[in-house]
Amino acid sequence: MQQNNDNSSIIDPIKLNRLAETAIKVGLQLQPGQDLLITAPTAALPLVRRIAEHAYKAGAGLVMPFFTDEQLTLARYQFASDSSFDKAANWLYDGMAKAFSANTARLAIVGDDPMLLSSQDPAKVSRANKANSIAYQPALEKIAGFDINWNIIAWPGTAWAQQVFPNETQDNAVRKLADAIFAASRVDLEDPIAAWSQHNAKLHAKTAWLNENRFSALHFTGPGTDLTVGLADGHEWHGGASTAKNGITCNPNIPTEEVFTTPHAHRVEGYVSSTKPLSYNGTLIDNISVRFEAGRIVEAKASRGEDVLKKVLETDEGAARLGEVALVPHSSPISKSGLLFFNTLFDENAACHIALGQCYAKCFLDGATLSPEQIAAQGGNKSLIHIDWMIGSNEVNIDGIQAHNTRVPVFRKGEWVE
Ligand code: ZN
Ligand code: ZN
Repeated sequence: MQQNNDNSSIIDPIKLNRLAETAIKVGLQLQPGQDLLITAPTAALPLVRRIAEHAYKAGAGLVMPFFTDEQLTLARYQFASDSSFDKAANWLYDGMAKAFSANTARLAIVGDDPMLLSSQDPAKVSRANKANSIAYQPALEKIAGFDINWNIIAWPGTAWAQQVFPNETQDNAVRKLADAIFAASRVDLEDPIAAWSQHNAKLHAKTAWLNENRFSALHFTGPGTDLTVGLADGHEWHGGASTAKNGITCNPNIPTEEVFTTPHAHRVEGYVSSTKPLSYNGTLIDNISVRFEAGRIVEAKASRGEDVLKKVLETDEGAARLGEVALVPHSSPISKSGLLFFNTLFDENAACHIALGQCYAKCFLDGATLSPEQIAAQGGNKSLIHIDWMIGSNEVNIDGIQAHNTRVPVFRKGEWVE
């Protein structure tokens, strides 16, 4: 079906403009003279244009956008030769890595159809993803290592909106998704910049408490879950605004409700069940249940998408180990919206979650000065992937475990105890 992708007449221009301004002033804190690299779906052009305006007003050197297009992506699956699926734009990612090394800021706009590739050959999807992940690695290391200020925001793409609101007309679905994105991003408020500074202060109070407690592990219990997540040696909790290695304090994710740190890649034991479906590259993976031994997933099941899950776990050695553990109260605004967004940027902020794969170097004390070898020695995981999935609900309790096995209640029935 052909879709009208020009949503600019349906989407509130004032809130859209606030989102662009918030991305530049809160998400990136773009500095005078700094260049900006943007990736976006073609449909998000109206937002990209407003971002460029705010970037140049803030003194940006050069704003350079790169677009992807859903129809163009599908054309590859329909018409490309088999060998196409082992290719990736290495030259482009090398250029991105170079740009980041030269202190270019990075803004990513998400908004594609989460089911875009769901009816394509899974083997081709997985080959294309793998080729892309390998090519992207040098650039991803600079993002994951927090070398530069970066930010992700969302655009209410038409197909995405219809996935979230299947019973609405196309226009209403887009309007509703736009409103949900604006509310979660706090740009439905008159002064989003002030709202973000209050929100950041709240998240920082939580990370300060967790860092003072120096837990060696977190113990999650709930239906289908009895999981002990050992935390990496010298781990540090982060959440909200934080400072990149280039000295700029930014909010990498808009929205964000989580506080998060690095688990120990070899000290995770027990079993855990997902509490929300995971939308991964066009496949829905539902009712995940896995068992860990010495940090590695040794058994994995899912009621839907199990084959994709198993392929993901085989990506590399680190793909079956954890790279992140994050705490989000059940009462978070995104959770309260009751929506399943089919998009990690939103869904991960509705519940406590864990991530398979690559860890964040910044989640270590003095993380900026640690070499990859030191990070690995302290328990930081390394992988081509980083996939968050939700394990929190109003039935999940969490205890922090300190040295000598002292237990401190952290969450009860999905909410902070403190
Ligand atoms: Zn997270
Ligand atoms: Zn994550």
